[in-house]
Parts: sequence; C-alpha cells; structure tokens
Amino acid sequence: MGTVKNMRGHRFNGCEVLKRSGTNSDKRAKWLCKCRCGNIFEVTGKSIRNGHVKSCGCYRKEVTKRRGKKNATHGDTNTRLYNIYRGMKQRCYYTNSHNYERYGGSGIKICKEWLDDFSNFKKWAITNGYDENLSIDRINNKKGYEPNNCRWVDAKTQTRNRSITKRAVFQGRLITLGEISEITGMSFSKVHYMYKQGKNLDATKIRK
Ligand SMILES: [Zn+2]
Repeated sequence: MGTVKNMRGHRFNGCEVLKRSGTNSDKRAKWLCKCRCGNIFEVTGKSIRNGHVKSCGCYRKEVTKRRGKKNATHGDTNTRLYNIYRGMKQRCYYTNSHNYERYGGSGIKICKEWLDDFSNFKKWAITNGYDENLSIDRINNKKGYEPNNCRWVDAKTQTRNRSITKRAVFQGRLITLGEISEITGMSFSKVHYMYKQGKNLDATKIRK
C-alpha cells in the first residue's frame, strides 16, 4: 500500500466526504461521509472512486423500490421510452456515466415526480407529443428535466439547439451562434454552416 489518496471534500452523487475515519481490515482507508439524505456513513475511498458506493444505502433502496414498483405497474422496461428515461437518469445521477459531468455534475436534475415513478414521465411524454422518432430536449439548458422545461424534438432540432449555444468571435466578442444569427439577420443555418466550414464570423456584416 502506498500513500492514501485524500478524499476529504470530495463529492459524489450528492454525498460529501467529511474526514478520514480509519482503516478497514483490508488496509483500505475509510472515510466518513455525509449522504445526500443527511445520514452519516463510512466507506472506503476505493468504493467511492470506483462508484460502487453511491449513498448510505438509501439510494440503492430507492432504486430497488422504484424498480419493484415499476415492474409491478408497467411492462415498459424494454421500450424506447424507457431507455430514454434510463439514459436521463444515468446522465444526471450515475457518477460513472460518461457524460455525468455535463449533466448531474453540472447540477442538472430530474424533477421528483419523474424520478420517483416512470409512469409519471410516461404520462407526460404521451400527452406532450412523444413519438418514436423524437428525443427529449431541455428548452433551457441550464434547467433540469421537468415538465415545463422539456419537449420532444426531432434530431435536426436537437442538433440545432446544441449548436445554437456554440460560440464564435463576432466583432471582437465571443458570443453564441444564436446571437450572431439574431444580430446579423442571417438565418441560423447559414451561421452554423459558416461556423462548421471554419469561416471567420468576426467581420460578418449586419444586414437589417
Ligand atoms: Zn442516504
């Protein structure tokens, strides 16, 4: 065993490492953590780092409960909509998810009614235009997954929404492509096309 990695202050899945609390029988450093539910629990630094422990135990209980509830109430676990739901949860709450940093890690959450029960999400999806060729899209990128901030869009719209927040230099300032489109009066697709072509947008004329 070499040096112990200092985990103090480290955050994972809404929990925080408070302080070192000893060594377990395998000579692993143990740490005292505060769970997102408020419980204090002890865990090895290794289990935090490899993602095996995500809470005091409440998280696993919750997931199991939810899963049990879901299985009891719907047979949707292999549907496309359920995969979307699962993907959303992974991005927001699974620290091991490859895009966790951009979602959960950046404070993006899922509203409680959806998180607690897939059938609530499904109900919202069906009544708000869900279709097999559409993806879930957050209207305001800084806000989470909740009925007021979500809609179903096709791939083209989603690409557009993602690229609208990309930035380029325009008249000496770094602003979004959406803003460049607004200021210049050029269509967004034209601005985006120029951006993709690597054209210099800095001196683009304002035509109004
Ligand atoms: Zn807990």
